[in-house]
This record gives sequence, C-alpha cells and structure tokens, in this order.
Amino acid sequence: MIQTHILGFPRIGAQRELKFALERHWRGEISADELDATGRTLRRRHWEQQRDAGLSFLTVGDFAFYDQVANHIQLFGCEPARFGFSAAEPALARHFTMARGVAHTLTHTHGDGCGCGAPAASGTPALEMTKWFDTNYHYLVPEFTADTAFALAPQRLLAELAEAQALGLPVKPILLGPLTFLWLGKAKAEGIDRLGLLDQLLPLYVDLLTRLAAAGVQWVQLDEPILGLDLPAAWTQAFERTYQRLAKVDVSVLLATYFSPLQTNLPLACRLPVAGLHVDAVRALDELPAVLDALPLDRELSIGIVDGRNIWRADLDTALAHLRPALERRGGRLWLAPSCSLLHVPLSLANDASLDAELRRWVAGAAEKLAELQLLKRALLKGDDAVAGELSAARTATDEQRHSPRVTNPAVAQRLRQMPAGIDRRISAFARRQRLQRKRLKLPPLPTTTIGSFPQTPAIRAARAAHKRGELPAQAYREAMQHEIAQAVAAQEALGLDVLVHGEAERNDMVEYFAEQLQGYAFSANGWVQSYGSRCVKPPLLFGDVSRPAPMTVEWARHAQSLTQRPMKGMLTGPVTMLQWSFVRDDQPRADTALQLALAVRDEVLDLEAAGIAVIQIDEPALREGLPLRRAQWPDYLAWATRAFRVAASGVRDDTQVHTHMCYAEFNDILPEIAALDADVITIETSRSDMALLQGFGTFRYPNEIGPGVYDIHSPRVPAAAEMVRLLRKAAEVVPADRLWVNPDCGLKTRSWPETMAALREMVQAAQQLRHELARGARAPAETAEA
Ligand code: GLN
Ligand code: ZN
Repeated sequence: MIQTHILGFPRIGAQRELKFALERHWRGEISADELDATGRTLRRRHWEQQRDAGLSFLTVGDFAFYDQVANHIQLFGCEPARFGFSAAEPALARHFTMARGVAHTLTHTHGDGCGCGAPAASGTPALEMTKWFDTNYHYLVPEFTADTAFALAPQRLLAELAEAQALGLPVKPILLGPLTFLWLGKAKAEGIDRLGLLDQLLPLYVDLLTRLAAAGVQWVQLDEPILGLDLPAAWTQAFERTYQRLAKVDVSVLLATYFSPLQTNLPLACRLPVAGLHVDAVRALDELPAVLDALPLDRELSIGIVDGRNIWRADLDTALAHLRPALERRGGRLWLAPSCSLLHVPLSLANDASLDAELRRWVAGAAEKLAELQLLKRALLKGDDAVAGELSAARTATDEQRHSPRVTNPAVAQRLRQMPAGIDRRISAFARRQRLQRKRLKLPPLPTTTIGSFPQTPAIRAARAAHKRGELPAQAYREAMQHEIAQAVAAQEALGLDVLVHGEAERNDMVEYFAEQLQGYAFSANGWVQSYGSRCVKPPLLFGDVSRPAPMTVEWARHAQSLTQRPMKGMLTGPVTMLQWSFVRDDQPRADTALQLALAVRDEVLDLEAAGIAVIQIDEPALREGLPLRRAQWPDYLAWATRAFRVAASGVRDDTQVHTHMCYAEFNDILPEIAALDADVITIETSRSDMALLQGFGTFRYPNEIGPGVYDIHSPRVPAAAEMVRLLRKAAEVVPADRLWVNPDCGLKTRSWPETMAALREMVQAAQQLRHELARGARAPAETAEA
C-alpha cells in the first residue's frame, strides 16, 4: 500500500486572496464574517486540489489567518495575560491583536510633560516574530510567564476538520508537537523553564487527540522539527515520556521531522512509540538507509522525497531509484510526501505569465508537486512502463535544464577556476587602510551616516509602477528618480551628515533590483510566498551561471556624487544575501553559486571605485540567517559565505573604504567570522537591545570600525538626541570612540520624510555633543580618569 500526503499547503491563495481580504478587514472594509468566508473558500479550494490530485489524505490544521503558531497559542489557551483579553472577545480578533499589537491612539512623540498620560512605550506590543527554523517564514513567538496556564480551545480546529470531512476523504489533522511548541516559545520571566511546562501541556494534547479520534480521525500528524536541532539532553529525554503518554490515545500518530538531518536523534525518532515517522529525504537523503534499518516494520514510513523548500521540478528517476529499494524493505508499505510543508513555495508556477515556456518546464509550485507525488506513486505501483509518457516528459525537462546553454556559461566556470590566490584579501591590513582612508575622507570623529535607503514615497512607487506598465518612458522615469536622489542629497547636506547615500529611490527591492540586471536570474509574475501574516515575497529564481553584463549602479552613484562634495557611499547587496533571498539552483553547491555572485558584485565594486566612489557598502543582512540548523555544519557555511563576501569586497585600493551592514540578528556567536569579513566599517542593528548586542564586539575586541545603530527605524517614534547620546556613551564603553560611527539601525525606506528628518536631526546633534565631550576629554584626561 502506498499513500500520498502533504505536510501543509500554501494558504494565501492563487491570487493572494487571503492577503487582500486580511488587509481589507484590518481597514474596516469587510467584517470578520466576510473574512471567515474567504478563509473557508480557500481551504475548500485547496482540499479539492489535494483530492483531485489523488492524495490519500486531506490535510487539516495548516490554515491560519495570520500564523499557525498563533493558532496553537489559542488552541492551548495560553494567550499572554498582558493582552488583557476578555472572554467576550472573538478568537479571530484576539489572533490579530497578538499578531499586530494595539497601537496607542495618539500618534505623537512623548516629550517632557506632553501630558498625554500614556507610558513611554505606549500601546501593547505584538508578539515577537522570528524566523521559522531556516526559512523566510516568520512565526509569532509564544510567551511563557509565571502565570502561563493552558486550556484546550479546539473549536476552530474541529470546525475545519468537519469542513474537510464533508469532502468525503480521510482527513489528517496536523499539529505542532508539544516539545516543538514549547521550544519555539520564549520564557518571559526569570526562572521559567519552558520544558517545565510540559507536564501541564501534555494532558491537553491527550484530550485533543482523544477528541480528534472521536470525530473519526485515524491519523494525526505531530510536527517535531526540533529533532533536527542540537537539542539539550533534557529535551531529547522528554521525547520518550511525551510520546509514551500520547500512545495511550486510540489514534495513529505520524511524527514529522524536516529541514535537517536527524543525526544523533535518529535512533530516538525511530524508536518512539508512534504509528509512523516522516523524514526529510531532500535535506537528509544520506540518512534514509539508516532510517530503513532502524524503523520497526510495524511503523509507517513517510519519505519526504519532493522538495518542499525549492521550486525545481523533481528528478523522478533519482527519486524512484531511492524509493524502490525502500518500498521493498518496507514490505510494499510506504507513504510519499513533500519534504516539508509546501508553505515555502508558490502555489503554482505552471502557467506563470512572466516565465518563458522553457523555464516553466523546469519549475514546480505546490500544485505541480502534488502531481509529482502521484506520478511517483503510480510508477512505484504499476512500473515505469505504465507512466512512460509522463516520466519521459519529466526526464526531458530535467535534461534540458541540466544542459541548457542558458544554465551553463563556460566563461563563468573558467573565471571561477582561474581565480588567483589572494583574490579574497585586501592589499594591506586594516591599520594601514584606516590611515589611508582617514587621509582621503577627512571625516570628523564619530562620523554620521545612514544605511542606504530613504523613504520610498507613494510618488516613487507610483512612478515605478507607471514605468513598469509602460506608461512612463525610461527617460522620464530616470529623471524622476534622479530628482528624488537630488532631494535626498540636499536633505543630507542640510542635516550635516558626513557620509551620504543616494537613497535607493530607483530600487524596488534590494535583491530583485540586482537580480534583474544579472544573467542567470528569472522572475515569476505570481510566485508569491508568505513571509508573515498578509506579507508575501516573490523570490527571484537563480537558475543559471551568474554574470554581470553591464554596470548596475554606477550611473546612479556618479550622479549622486556629482551633487555633493561629501563622500557618497555606493550601495550594493552582497552575494550571501542575494543567494539567501532567492530560489537557488540545486545542481551545484550553494558555495559555488555564491562565488559567482561574488565575482559579479566585485566587478561592480571596482567600477564604482573607478567612478570615484570612495566608500562602498555591501549589505549582508542575511548572512546570519543562512547558518545551518546544525552547529556541526556552521564552519563549512561560514567559511564559504565569508569568503564570498571577501571576494566581492577585496578588489579595491587601500584608501577605498568598504562598509557592510547586518540586521535582524544576534551576532555574538559568529563574531570571529564577522571580523573575518574584514570590512573597514560594519553597521549593525543594536538600538532595540539597548546596545546589549554590541557587548560581544567589545569582549571579542572587534578590530575594525563599527556603527552600532542608535535608533530603531521600525518605529515611527522620533528619538531625542539625549537618548542617542546615552546609547553612544554606552557603545563607547565597549568600542574605543575613535572606531565608532553614528547611524540608524537599518534603511529608512519604510519611514516618511518628516519623521526621517526629525530623527536624523537629533542623531547629528547627538554625534556633535559626543564629539565635544571627546574633545574636552582629550584635553583633560585627568578629569575623565576621575569621573
Ligand atoms: N541598504 C539597505 C537599505 O538601507 C539595507 C536593507 C537591509 O539591511 N535589510 O534599505
Ligand atoms: Zn538592515
């Protein structure tokens, strides 16, 4: 018997119906009931797709209006007390409050005695959001405090179950397993041990599984992807007693793991008393033989053979070569599935209007992956001959992709082979570069700068949209953007900033903008993937060897520099971030693709330098998030990722200053590698942690210059100079002041001009005040020594 199933389906809708309905609901344009109806329609449509594709089960529990982890917070009744929900508040409204917070109704900056009576950080902040394992999906983080208590609220899940059951097929609900749910949460008070909550939570799972069984469910999938992490011993030990307890319920549990090899947890996963085990045979194909050895034959084995994380068509011959012996070993019983939930790929790419016919043959969205599962099943059951036509079509497409001249560019391969030794090293060590750069740039101490983007105003977006629709000719669009750049430059001069930026008006997105100008990239019209809530991204498709046919930013930078005497920073996206935020080809190691990107960026860096740009920033906000889930794989990743950055950055003269920028993350565990980038200046996000994130840089004695962000650009609040002075003084305790820069946490594209100007004015003032203090201190060292 071969069964097919999925671990979750995209929920946003083929035309992003859920996104638009959510946004209309939040604007008050449609009621909760109307939104609910959209949800019902989408769920039904997606189950019908699963049914029509011939899957053995319909999967329930993967739908969420905002987030599936927030669904679990509600399912187990542990909404944080700080939201002060009343029993009368509908569950959907509470879901959105947790996701989006409650804003203070008066939108103004609290000043001394503004008298509004609201606390400084007013309103109720949303739950924290963080990345779901190593994906670009963000989940809402459960909060555990001393008063956390659980109470089962299964109404929503049971209602969705009934909706699916009405379609007449077996239904398999999916849930986060209790250990992964606790692991994903955050203890919000000293002395709270998440694992300590297990004994309270477990009875609710027992109760829930019992109710699902009573509702006619045979299989329940419990996701425990943390089995792919390096877990503390107490957590691995907790698996045995947890699943022993759940085994007492009369329902079959399918334990699902994904994203990462099981490694040392493999024997544990195979011996837990569950009815079935799902493994990710895309990320951990090497482990499949060990799983086949260890998993008792009375368990079901679900093999995640179709890639749930990438959009390339499956290589069915290779898949069958692994599945056939597995099927035999399992006595003819096997489940087939995508490696993980299909949430991470677009719904469909088969008819995408922007991909040409050839590319459309190479890709598979969620819908196409369902068909791949069915085809594999039929080939296994009936033999290749029964599906010869379809198999050969698939084979032709795979071969075509492998050998297409669009994919392989011999010149790129040759360049990679012939890279000179030392291509990833600057000419001189930092101390000499610093001296030469200081001589050339003549900046004051504590130089001020920004991270790159200035507000992307409605006018800018409208001009770009009109240009894309063909209504605004290229020349007029270019002039409109040059005008924006001129305004940004004038604004920065008026503020008295030291190192200027052109403001990135002409960029839609920091990856897509470059990808559009590189060979080897393609773009879908509708390949949307949910990032969080109603937010979707459309990652570019990196399908072939990367090269740069022409300079990408030089004209803009030259124009911007011509408008000012001050140094103008050239602004580029680094190779690792280009890789991380794209769907990347899987026919060669990511390290090789990163190097190709690095060479393209390197060429751009050198062209900028030749155009007279003295400061060049290469953004790598995604460097940290590319880290593998298993620590043992960190060194390899960090070695190639940092090398790619250095290849991009190291072609320049000693007196050209290279900056990098990173955000969204803790850096302390990879400081040596950040230092190994050897950027002359790094700007990082630190203000929200009150400079705590900077501590590690001090302890580690980070050798080059640092701009710790002094204000949070995610908030419309305008910070006062005094706050930034305080943060800078704190920073100066950790990093010598002569190596400090003054800048915001990140780019300003989401802000408006008035708040941007107000905040930067305060920032420049803060820098000036600190410079005076430093100058006084230098004149009277004894005074400071005693202070
Ligand atoms: N230069 C980019 C900007 O300012 C950096 C964005 C980022 O770090 N995510 O918008
Ligand atoms: Zn940033």
